[in-house]
Amino acid sequence: MRRRVILLGPPGSGKGTVAVHLQKELGLPHVSSGHLLRREVENGSTMGRRAKLFIDKGELVPNDAVLELVNSWLLSSDAEEGFVLDGFPRNLAQAKVLDEWLRQTPIEKVILFDSPESVIVDRITGRRTCPKCGRVYQLPTLAPSKDGVCDDCGTMVVQREDDQEPVVRKRYDIYRRETEPLAAYYRQQGKLTVVDATRPLEQRLSAATAALRG
Ligand code: ATP
Ligand code: MG
Repeated sequence: MRRRVILLGPPGSGKGTVAVHLQKELGLPHVSSGHLLRREVENGSTMGRRAKLFIDKGELVPNDAVLELVNSWLLSSDAEEGFVLDGFPRNLAQAKVLDEWLRQTPIEKVILFDSPESVIVDRITGRRTCPKCGRVYQLPTLAPSKDGVCDDCGTMVVQREDDQEPVVRKRYDIYRRETEPLAAYYRQQGKLTVVDATRPLEQRLSAATAALRG
């Protein structure tokens, strides 16, 4: 079983949901760079205040800030037995730095969840996120069991500012321009599996688990 994994894909392609399942089934810790950044924003740190300017516009946060956050997560003991990265790397520069960090224990598998823009926009408008623990819900199919309240921590779920349609479209454009080229980068390394993100969750999960076995 391959255990150092990257989940790639446009915003709202279900990377976070798959990551949570992999964590439950395989005990693999996962981290979402978006969640790390939003936590900084919540805390009102200097980095968080700077990052917010980019996040709200749907633009990528500058590499130095993202690299610092992901690096300290990777160095934490959580990541020793393997990990799933969701939302990182987002451009070629980040991917190259990651390869440098992991020279002794390289990334084993990259799963790309591909989806057309129309599906992304539909999905993201139904998305609700727990601002405290980061858990993601999807109305109406994967709603919290108690109306509007996170199943895990009891916090009121919200619609993210950057989940409004115009911002989603911009995030999708930036994904195509900056992030999608990583597919070729990892394909060349022989690590890439592409999964159709428009399939039902069950099928995406089994495709992801099969890829990690292969
Ligand atoms: P989804 O969570 O639906 O997959 P997403 O991937 O666009 O959508 P996040 O990963 O939560 O959303 O990221 C939200 C925002 O945080 C991004 O639009 C960007 O501004 C910033 N961000 C997250 N990860 C990175 C990164 N690796 N590099 C630069 N900016 C990032
Ligand atoms: Mg995400």
